[in-house]
Amino acid sequence: MTRMATIVVFAAVAAGGGSAHAITGNQPEFRKLAEDVYVYIGKLNDSNAMAIVTSEGVVLVDTGNNTTDTRALLKHVQSVTKQPVRYVVITQNHNDHSGGAALFSPPAKTIVHERVAKQWANLKPHQMTAWRRRFPERTAALERLNPTDTIESVSGQRTLRLGGTDIQLIYVDDPYNPGDIAVWLPKQRVLHASMAGYKDRHPDIRPDYSHGTTEGLLKQLKAYITLRPQLVVPAHGPVGGGWILEGMIEYLLLARDSVQEMMKKGLPLATIEREFQMKSFSEWDRTEHLPWMAATIHRELQGLGPQAIKTVERRVSGVVASALQDGRRVTVTAGNGMQVVLRVTGDTVFEGIGDRTEVRTGMKVAAVYEVPEGIVPTLGYDTLEFTVSR
Ligand SMILES: [Zn+2]
Repeated sequence: MTRMATIVVFAAVAAGGGSAHAITGNQPEFRKLAEDVYVYIGKLNDSNAMAIVTSEGVVLVDTGNNTTDTRALLKHVQSVTKQPVRYVVITQNHNDHSGGAALFSPPAKTIVHERVAKQWANLKPHQMTAWRRRFPERTAALERLNPTDTIESVSGQRTLRLGGTDIQLIYVDDPYNPGDIAVWLPKQRVLHASMAGYKDRHPDIRPDYSHGTTEGLLKQLKAYITLRPQLVVPAHGPVGGGWILEGMIEYLLLARDSVQEMMKKGLPLATIEREFQMKSFSEWDRTEHLPWMAATIHRELQGLGPQAIKTVERRVSGVVASALQDGRRVTVTAGNGMQVVLRVTGDTVFEGIGDRTEVRTGMKVAAVYEVPEGIVPTLGYDTLEFTVSR
């Protein structure tokens, strides 16, 4: 074996997947992208965040994949400026992007689209508890607050003008756009492309349209391309040029075509979900997102609205058999030997540990999770409560 071949094999094993996925580095990276613009690139395709420094404060764009990233992001920002964080723009309402807002806000204002504001106004009690407990150092500051007390919502386009810097917030309207906002810096020609920007990772698109639709994402991408950005920060994956947007259009069109071809052949949905492989993007990670993407496109192509998903609560107690992706995907072996795969997020309320990054193999746990009727959640069951007894 040549030396080069040895290195390649090692890199693939280090990635954890055992296959040659293209992913960002093992450690997060904070670097300057343009004058006064910095990017925080998540490790192993974790979510990316951006920081814009002005003479009247810092604007953050998203907040890091988990609490470790959020705290690291703050430290990095403090290493390049003495200005305080004044605004946090949430580009998509998913915890790996929005979950860190409570570290900065208040006093910073969190800017969200009004559709996101509505969702934050209707958080379930366990989500509210999770929000208040996410950063123990913030308990006192958040005690009497609700998430909506800290936000400023936008309905369409808006330009933030801070210390002479123009920061444009772009919302591309669509019936199923859940409130994604792209952030455009016209002077630096840098774009944070929100949920529509993905590179080296299969996007997480779901049949309940909670993450939008492929049609809506295509509409966003086409709008962003007209800006002719020089640099694009995707939601996940490495930073690149405007070609990232073109690549994603190609990806989504191919995805839609391949589902359509299978529908024409009369294949049932279960078969389509299994056969939908996106082989020309085989180096992208998170193939577990593919069955739901197929199911989403299958609905879209029939002109159907979002799938209504009923859930029932279940409980499991047992021992952690494995904890992957910083504790996001936790397998618990129950007393009877049955295994349950849990999807642990920023909405999960923890007892006994601070957050999911502290979940370890062998821990004794009790969890409350939601089982959706009639679908197999390939990412694991959404977990409401996660209690560790040592
Ligand atoms: Zn994400």
